[in-house]
Amino acid sequence: GHSLLAYCRPGFESECAQELAANDRRLASGGFARSERNSGFVEFVLPDPVQAQRFAEQVRWQDLTFARQLLRVMARIDDLPKSDRLGRLMPTIEAAGRRYRDAWIESPDSDAARELAGLCRSLNNALISNMKRAGLLEAESPWRLHVCLIDAQTAFIAEARCDASAEWRGGIPRLRFPSAAPSRSTLKLEEALLTLLDADEREAWLKPGMSAVDLGASPGGWTWQLVRRSIHVTAVDNGPMDPGLLDSGFVTHLREDGFRYRPATPVDWLVCDMVEQPRRVAALIGEWLAEGRCRFAVFNLKLPMKKRYDEVQLCRDTVLAALAATGRVAHWRARQLYHDREEITVFARSG
Ligand code: SAM
Repeated sequence: GHSLLAYCRPGFESECAQELAANDRRLASGGFARSERNSGFVEFVLPDPVQAQRFAEQVRWQDLTFARQLLRVMARIDDLPKSDRLGRLMPTIEAAGRRYRDAWIESPDSDAARELAGLCRSLNNALISNMKRAGLLEAESPWRLHVCLIDAQTAFIAEARCDASAEWRGGIPRLRFPSAAPSRSTLKLEEALLTLLDADEREAWLKPGMSAVDLGASPGGWTWQLVRRSIHVTAVDNGPMDPGLLDSGFVTHLREDGFRYRPATPVDWLVCDMVEQPRRVAALIGEWLAEGRCRFAVFNLKLPMKKRYDEVQLCRDTVLAALAATGRVAHWRARQLYHDREEITVFARSG
């Protein structure tokens, strides 16, 4: 095997491929992307196994924006027999000579592949039993086995280091909509905090009693996530806020323009979900961080129809340049979340 497999939102294969190609140029590894529009995945082919391993060691899922998951391909199997798919998969899995912490059979997020969900589930149970019997599972192993079914007879057998890959099947954390939250957007901030921060960071950086500003807050889905963590929020929006949230005692609602508002004293968090040009949002966030008005920021960038990858680079450069001008280092982590449509979500902070 000398390729990598990335899962992405269907329709964003070319952005995902561009991003892998940019890493390939940086590492001078000589690879190329194979992708099909709306398939929900990209295969990135390296010239040989050595380059593939090097690429996989240098590029972590955490550093990618358009990939929900990043795996190392061991083999592609094109002739899974209907009667005994597992029998066809097992020899390759055994030949890898590794033990795995877990094994997932999954399918990409495309309309076609989603119909394989039932097959994935039943095969997965049988796979786990087979692997147990063969002594291929070990709780302490740093590796996870992935079988990606792209149709009923085609599969990639792949693996990933648990610490360099997403810890959710298909790269998608299954979040339940909290019935008390005022809008479905709440899942976007929840997913952002779950996927862009690790557990230690969430614990250290989201503490009760902290302060936040929410720009474009109405009706309050994002604010709700902060209030749930006992963080005080100044919610800026001309639109109405959910009455229950206002009753919590943690929220101050200001009917003001989010681009003009500045807090009297610095806050811990700035979150921003205003539907606006991405460059304008990036410039605003860069200014807040550079002027020390907030320590951490989470914001959405609505992507244009064309040159979406370039637009993200431009926004990143804008934030980084604003901070560099003050002699501070900017940290930037971005992802197209499962709950993001034509947009990405960014976590940024000044170091
Ligand atoms: N994050 C919210 C939630 O979870 O419920 C949803 C936000 S909605 C996608 C975008 C909001 O941005 C709208 O309520 C709109 O009024 C607000 N908005 C757009 N431009 C704004 C501006 N210049 N100043 C303040 N709010 C703005």
